[in-house]
Amino acid sequence: MSAPGPLRQPDVERTRFEPPQSEATRPFWAASRDRRLVLQWCRTCERAIHYPRDACPRCLGEALEFRPSPGVGTVYAISVMPKPANPLMAGREPYAVALIDLEDGVRFMSNVVGIDPYAVQVGMPVRLTWEPLSDGRHLPQFAPISPGGENETSAEVA
Ligand SMILES: [Zn+2]
Repeated sequence: MSAPGPLRQPDVERTRFEPPQSEATRPFWAASRDRRLVLQWCRTCERAIHYPRDACPRCLGEALEFRPSPGVGTVYAISVMPKPANPLMAGREPYAVALIDLEDGVRFMSNVVGIDPYAVQVGMPVRLTWEPLSDGRHLPQFAPISPGGENETSAEVA
């Protein structure tokens, strides 16, 4: 079940819930190995789709492709988990689970990191950052964009 790409990173232990892959999400996860965020787009509707799937939820068309995303958005909703919702998240509490509205037009469920989780606010501008997974993939996470912009990440290097 290992996908092509870098070998398992021995220095990254599996200490968190790691999302499974499907045929539809494989390009998304493949790009994550290079810390590139790609979103699925419907070529008929010219709109982004998330999560990746086999057909456009709007027109049911199958003319889909993956395009790079800058990974910039705002917090739409936020929930702080004082206890781990999954045993593999133990030790990370409290942590922020958020719905992020990306500028690409899709809503993305993720974590907001690099900030006190209780300080995350609706409408807060955030930018993509990456957390390594144990199999060489990376998990998209989001961090606040500070007014000075000094917390630039390497995420948008495409
Ligand atoms: Zn469509």
